[in-house]
Amino acid sequence: MSRYEIFALKYAGPVKKCGAHLMWQKDWDKAGAGNFYFWCVKNHERTIIVDTGVAPALAAKRGLPNFIDPANLITRLGLKANSIEHVIITHLHWDHAGGAKLFPRAVFYVNEKEYLFWARDKAALTPPFEFLSDKSSINYLKGHKKRGRLVLVKKDQQLFPGISVMAAPGHSPGLMAVVVNTQKGRAVIGSDAAYVFKNYEQNWPSDIMYNMADSIRSLARLQHQASSPVLLFPGHDIKMAEDFPEVANNITRLA
Ligand SMILES: [Zn+2]
Repeated sequence: MSRYEIFALKYAGPVKKCGAHLMWQKDWDKAGAGNFYFWCVKNHERTIIVDTGVAPALAAKRGLPNFIDPANLITRLGLKANSIEHVIITHLHWDHAGGAKLFPRAVFYVNEKEYLFWARDKAALTPPFEFLSDKSSINYLKGHKKRGRLVLVKKDQQLFPGISVMAAPGHSPGLMAVVVNTQKGRAVIGSDAAYVFKNYEQNWPSDIMYNMADSIRSLARLQHQASSPVLLFPGHDIKMAEDFPEVANNITRLA
């Protein structure tokens, strides 16, 4: 059975957040913080990048603090962005898909519902949805579709030996979590199905929402899928940078 290691690559942050951003309609009086990550799933046979981070121009436009170009960051794992072949994009919000151009040779895997919303639905072009995506990255992926380098995922499935995707919608129309066989068991990169570990611990979502009912179902589904609660990873928790072994500056090994 193929097993992998999972690395969290912190490309920006921390950013101060109101507690109610991390825990929907709770914690108004508490301060919180979030980091920006993408992930690398790797063994001796295969390297898969999960999400893209953002390109430098977009990071400047959005005012991201402590930004590191994702293409530079992955060199700390001995990888080169222009030789990455497979990138799974969990969802098409700007902070997860805004670096697609940094991986010029990759095939991208995106949930079909997610793609159709951001690429075709007029609501996606209307604020506040418009703020959540990056139009130039969506257009870049549209071009990839024509070239056959965008794979639209329709259902839960194994993409590579030991690596599957499963639908976890709510935060966005077709968010996909990535399920990975690791030495410690079945781990789940839930991305923004939850912002922080606390969302899972309390079965309470974070604030940015496409569909609340789906979001709550997804929290439960992902908890069921991971072999253990410590193998279920959220999208923005600062603990992913602080509580796990650091393998290089800004890179931790989650599993
Ligand atoms: Zn995010």
